[in-house]
Amino acid sequence: MTRGKGLRISSLVACGAALALLVSAGFSGVSAALPGRPAPGPKPAVAPLAKPGQKPTAATTTGPKLVLLIVADQFRADNLTRWGHLLSEGGLKRLMKDGARAIGRYGQQNTYTGPGHALIATGSYGYLNGITQNKFWNRQGGRAESMLYDGNVKIIGEKELSLEDDSSPRNLIGSTVFDELRFANKESKVVSVSLKARGAILLGGHTGQAYWFSDQTGEMTTSTFYGPDTAEWVKRWNGGKLADKLFGKVWDRLLPESAYTTLDASPHEADLKGLGRVFPHPTNAKQQAPGPGYYESINYTPTGLEIQMDFARAAIEGEQLGQRGVTDALAISVSGTDLAGHLFGPYSHEYQDMVLRFDRAVEKLLQDLERKFKPGELVVAFTADHGAAPIPEEAMQKSLLAGRIRKGIVKDTVQKALSQFYSIQGEWVAALEDPSVYISPKMIAQAKADPAQVEEVAGRAVLEIPGVIGYYTRTQLMRGWVPPTDVSTAVVRSYFPSRGGELVLVMAPFYFWGKYGEKEQGTSHGSFYRYDTEVPMVFWGQPFNGGEYGVIDQVDFAATLAHALRLTPPAACVGRPVMMMLKPRTP
Ligand SMILES: [Zn+2]
Repeated sequence: MTRGKGLRISSLVACGAALALLVSAGFSGVSAALPGRPAPGPKPAVAPLAKPGQKPTAATTTGPKLVLLIVADQFRADNLTRWGHLLSEGGLKRLMKDGARAIGRYGQQNTYTGPGHALIATGSYGYLNGITQNKFWNRQGGRAESMLYDGNVKIIGEKELSLEDDSSPRNLIGSTVFDELRFANKESKVVSVSLKARGAILLGGHTGQAYWFSDQTGEMTTSTFYGPDTAEWVKRWNGGKLADKLFGKVWDRLLPESAYTTLDASPHEADLKGLGRVFPHPTNAKQQAPGPGYYESINYTPTGLEIQMDFARAAIEGEQLGQRGVTDALAISVSGTDLAGHLFGPYSHEYQDMVLRFDRAVEKLLQDLERKFKPGELVVAFTADHGAAPIPEEAMQKSLLAGRIRKGIVKDTVQKALSQFYSIQGEWVAALEDPSVYISPKMIAQAKADPAQVEEVAGRAVLEIPGVIGYYTRTQLMRGWVPPTDVSTAVVRSYFPSRGGELVLVMAPFYFWGKYGEKEQGTSHGSFYRYDTEVPMVFWGQPFNGGEYGVIDQVDFAATLAHALRLTPPAACVGRPVMMMLKPRTP
């Protein structure tokens, strides 16, 4: 490996030292494990959540009682203007009207769920927080795995862990806003809820409690990272079998069809597990009774949204959030918008319907919370992890250059170029995890090749693939030898050396690769372009000045929230609090 000395110090040694410092200072909840290094046995003691109903011993806060962080997965900023006239008075529109609102713009290239949530929570880019992709090729293990895979834990109620499973925040480096809340007051609780494990885990940080939906059991679950078993209130909630009760529900439009202005029956929308491509959508996955196929299918529909919102409500009661004299936090990462967006595209009736239903769910939650909390006791922050590209085939019909790039083509192109150049046959490509191409270290060693040259040969070859407009090599990124462009900055910010590939590809607008690059329908995200990088940034509650604040760096989200809550910013936060959004305060 040709790792630049400066970068090694800044990205690995420095992080390790900072973590060691935190651990020695008594923050034992922070896992010191770095990429590929197994975690040292079962999770060390995180200060346990106080028992439900238990009053904290030292009531200290004058801040809000509850901080509600809502992250919509795959939610472009323009959703709020395009469908603004269809929003309810008490939901997202109310947050925007009374709160401080802006467009948050991601300054890193890899706009996926993991990297987006990590940036929201930490105010840092992937080159610091380590969460640069949803999946990566683990160089030490020599295998592809989920970014939040942790082989030392189990998912409660599920069969054996697979490498595809996200199961703990071990690979997240640094602290999150809510970790800082827990550091500031050990009595504060942080609960995070999502259908997707990675959404819940990253917002929960190292010291919170994350819950997500199990497609195997139809229940909300967590992993043994957080404790040996789920809390009693979780068991009770699961005992209610909400997913099973909703079996057989048909998904139809919330509003009359005339409110939906685009095509419903596009042949480029995907049909998953019998959901179909047009309304009304059966959600039973062609099953006679609830089971794993059905549980998976409802993630893509309003049924999943209903389940996670119901569970979030139960968490408020179960943990008595905001009712114990300290500031507590509830984070909700809404997954249905992403899953429906992938299947049907950002301009579909289904996606629009999911946005409207999400808005109604927010309205209902706010109504409930306002019955519980007085004005000033509640802070709400709303944002999203990334946007989405239009379905490529639909873009092509409008004469735009667009397309899906098959992994097979990338692999064959790299394979052919390297086999020919070095006259050695073999498996040159170790893994493809968009946007990274990983080249086999064994083959580089066998060819006695200079890694920088291998990367360059592979990079020049992939440029021949339609839709690939650029590449960065590992050597280039680690040395900082990049052209002075906006894309270069965004790619460097998304590159964490021990988890990044030998090549990072840059696609033209409206092109993508990865899971949905392999399909014939649906769409994806993950680029530097504005449809992927621009999301809502809304703060609501006593500390904020209402108004519209233009386009703001998304890394400022965490800094602003931390400042509003009078917290130390997360350790690696590179953002600044947007002071215009904040009311002046006395020390
Ligand atoms: Zn997605």
